[in-house]
Parts: sequence; C-alpha cells; structure tokens
Amino acid sequence: MTALDAVDASSAGNAAVKTVLGEERFKMVQQAKLLVVGAGGIGCELLKNLVLTGFIDIEVVDLDTIDVSNLNRQFLFRRVHVDRPKSVVAAEAVKQFRPDAKILSHHGNVKDSEFGLEFVSKFDVVVNALDNLEARRHVNRLCLAAEKPLMEAGSTGHLGQVTVIKKGETECFECQAKPSQKVYPYCTIRSTPEKPVHCLTWAKNLFDLCFGPEDESNLLADLAAEMRQFQSQEKVDGEDVGKRIFKHLFEEDIKKQAQLEDLWSDSRPPPGPLSYEEAMKKTEQSSDAADKDKLETQKVPTVAGDAKGFVASVAKMYGERRDMIGQSSFSKDDPVSMDFVHCAANLRMQNYRISRLSRWDAQSIAGSIIPAVASTNAIVAGLEVVQLLHVLYAKAKKIEMKESQARTVWVRYPEPSRKKILQPSKLQPPNEDCFVCGSRTARVVVKSLKDFKIAAFAKACLQTQLGAHRPALYANGSCIFDPEYPEPGEEAEEEGLHPDWSLEQWGLTSGSLLQVEDEGQGWSINLALREEPDLDEQHYPSGVKVESGADAGEEAAKDMAEKKRKADADAAEATAAKKAALDASTVSLDD
Ligand SMILES: [Zn+2]
Repeated sequence: MTALDAVDASSAGNAAVKTVLGEERFKMVQQAKLLVVGAGGIGCELLKNLVLTGFIDIEVVDLDTIDVSNLNRQFLFRRVHVDRPKSVVAAEAVKQFRPDAKILSHHGNVKDSEFGLEFVSKFDVVVNALDNLEARRHVNRLCLAAEKPLMEAGSTGHLGQVTVIKKGETECFECQAKPSQKVYPYCTIRSTPEKPVHCLTWAKNLFDLCFGPEDESNLLADLAAEMRQFQSQEKVDGEDVGKRIFKHLFEEDIKKQAQLEDLWSDSRPPPGPLSYEEAMKKTEQSSDAADKDKLETQKVPTVAGDAKGFVASVAKMYGERRDMIGQSSFSKDDPVSMDFVHCAANLRMQNYRISRLSRWDAQSIAGSIIPAVASTNAIVAGLEVVQLLHVLYAKAKKIEMKESQARTVWVRYPEPSRKKILQPSKLQPPNEDCFVCGSRTARVVVKSLKDFKIAAFAKACLQTQLGAHRPALYANGSCIFDPEYPEPGEEAEEEGLHPDWSLEQWGLTSGSLLQVEDEGQGWSINLALREEPDLDEQHYPSGVKVESGADAGEEAAKDMAEKKRKADADAAEATAAKKAALDASTVSLDD
C-alpha cells in the first residue's frame, strides 16, 4: 500500500471524488501544484472547493487581514479571526476538511518581487481569486511570461465570469480594452458639481492633496500651495488646522466661486458659502421616517455632524497619524480617510444644494462599489474548479486550450438571458494587437512634450494606464527612467537620471519610439509617442492618452467588425455581460 493509497483510504471524500472523476483525472488532481491568488470572497469558496475536490498541493497569497465586514460572506472566517491574515486563516480552515492537504500561505502582495517569475514558475496552474484590476493585470503578465495557464475569475454583484488564459493559445486578460475609470470634466469637479459623485471625487482628490505625496496630476493641484500654508507650522493643533481648512474651502473659496458670474444662471444658481459657526447650528435630523430603522452609517448626518466629523478627521491625521502625512492615500476601507472624504463631500454638497449622503452611500460611490454577492462568488469559484479540471486534462494530453473542453463562462442572474444563468462560450484566440501578449506596441499621445516630466509620465501613462508595476523606460538604447530613482537627487544624477526632466529635455519628439520594461512582470513593450497639443484636457486630465490595439486603424477596425458579425449571438451577449462584469470603474467589496 503506497502513501497515496493510505491517504485515500482515510478519506471517504476521496473515494467519492474518484468515482466522479475517474482514476486518471483523480491522479492529475492529486499531483497538481496550484497557486491561488486571493483568499477573500472568491478565494474562500475556491480553497474549500479545491480541497474537497482532492487538490492537496496549494500555495495561497493574500495581502489582507480579516475585517469584521468580511464575515457575512467569507465563510471561512469567524469573529475570533478578525485582524489575522486572510491567507493564513483560510488555509487553516480548509485543512480541517482535508488534514492531509499541504497548504502554504503567504501574507503579502502578489505584486511584491518575492512572488515574481521564479515563484510563479514552480506551479502547474495559477488560479486567480482577485477583485482588483491592477493585481489581475499583474498576474496575467506573470503567467504569460512564465507560460503557465491562468484561471481568471471575477464577480460584480450578480455578474460573474470565469475564463482560461494560456500564452499564445487564448486571449489574455488584457486582449480586450477594459472600460477605464470614468473621468469627469475638470471644471465639473473644480467649480460646478451637480451630483454627489462629483463632490466625492473632489473630496478624494482633496484628501490625497492634503495628506499624500506631491502629485502634479492631482485634479486640485492648483490648491496645493494654499493647503500647504496650513501645514507649515512646526507643531500644529489638528483641530485648528481643520477649522482653517474648513473656512478656506467651504466658505471663502465658495464665495469666490459664486462671484464667477459666467458660471451661473437661473437653472444653475451659484453655490452658498458655509461658515463653521453656521454649520454647527444646523442640527436638524433628516426627516425621513424610515431612518429610524436604519443603522447609524445608513443615516444622513446633520450638517453640524459633517462639520464636526470633518474637523475631527483632520485632527486625527495630525494626531495619531502624524507620521503618515505626506504618504497617505485615500482608501474606502480606511475609516479616517473615509470619514474625511464623506464629511468633506457632504459639506460641498451643502454648498451646492445637492442632497447629502449617508456614510454607507458615500462609501459605495467613493469606492465605486457594487456590493459583493456571496452566491455569485460561490458559483464563480465552483466554475473555476470545473475549468481547472479541463485545463489539467488538456495539459496532460497535450491538447491546445482552444481544442479542450475549457470555456469562458458567464454568470448572470437573477435576470438571466435566455433563461440560462450560466453562458459558456469558446475560448477566443489572442488579439494580435494586444499590447501585452500581441504586437507589443502601444501608441501614446501626450498633450505636451515640454510640460510632461518623465517621472510623471511613468506614473500617469506606464503605471496607471498601461498597468506596469515598476517600469523602466529606454530611448535609443539608454535608460531615461529607472523605477529605483523616482525622485530627483544626487544618487539619480550619478546614474545619469533626471526624473524631473521633461520628455522634451530627454530629446523625445513626436514620433519617437521608446521601450518599456517591467522586470518584475516579465513584460516589455514599445511605445510610439506622438504630441497632440489639442488633446482634450477634460477627457484626458493627466495629459496622456493611450491608443492600444482597440484603436488599431481603419483596416483592423473593418476586420474586427467582420469578425463581430460572424460571432454568434451568445458571444455577442457574452461580450455585453463581460463589459459589465469587468467594468474597471466597479470594484467589489471584497478586498
Ligand atoms: Zn493579450
């Protein structure tokens, strides 16, 4: 009797699985070495499914610790686990189902260098259970570089999707352009907000401006000098600073805005200034009778409450968070930054006569959250295991993915189309124009070569838009930007680098060809640069526009249109569902 048999004999579950899968496939399951990325909403379900299907060699990476708000849908976690790493607790929990499973957990960010190419190369298959686009793009690139099959999954409310990615055989995660985050015209945010989301966007930028690193691309960068004057004193009284910022933003700046007569009309009356003293007198509660049954966070606070909350959050930043000033950034899950953004946005809404929001609603909009639905996560995680079995079989039999039984599957309910909750469609071949797995050339348009500093370009274009993590930039064979030296200084200069030089100072012209390399992602790309002084500032506030494969000229567009016509109705529907499911502007609650 072999060791493997002994394990079999001890587990009635194995016998059942073996009956379903058959001897051959069961053996593949027992021998497969898996990397699971993410131990949150999808990850908990996935890990449980994997061990119950007989997988026993798994490593799992997750960045987060368990929050109380996770407990209603991440069922491996209990109250006693709060604040412990998700990867560790999830592994412990599923080991109880299968004591013989070998699960190694890593509490860390999959984008860290320790989880680079070498790490990924150890595994047979990578299984994603991630909810954010950035990490999904990163893992996609790692798996392409390591030539490992990737099970990719996502969920947004009642929409879900599972697919298989294999270099050279299928579409990669980035073959189809993702709708980018909605960008609001600058003047709407700065001067003429009409909706809560405009005020929240303003407040998020304000938080980063006050407490984050200097960032010229911040929408409110013109306020930077004014904001800094509040912080210049050696030792500041946080409450005092809060009240002064209050006066500046919600009273004086609004008075100035109201005087800009061109902006206002009968249908759009000027905003009304609000002083801290006035605000403190506004203590009337919302008249909504249904409010009685709501949680505190679901009620709209009084104006006085917002004013107090705003000043208190500033005081907290200058008190217990003093060390983090200059390095903080807004996160919907950080209570202090969320308080700041909620109260600041509400006060601005008061200025502009927009109905104010509860903290709950503000958090949803600020994080562009569509609440995660436990059942969608469970369906998606189940489908991932089914596809994984197809992938392992194809791998063992040396069958190409597109010839295998693996499919892209869409989940859509409670209003499924054609009465089917699950819609499978064939895996698509790679997009030749994809700037990640295909042609590897992206065309980039900048508004001004003279005004764009190379470091700002690396951030706005390479990181934010092209999804690089730590990109280096080369022109004519020499390095012109190195992620080791993002700031100007002596060390950078010794290396011949000048992060504060403009693209023009580096000798780049409209038509220059550049190379980008991200060693950690094993990804490189050519950039064709063009200057377009008329680039619409409202649509491209950062001054750069990426034209990738999706906009590959007329011929390609015709080609695509032809292909589209030929695609069957299911595929068309799937595309619609895909757009919604993968909309970059939505993030599920499961971080
Ligand atoms: Zn691709």
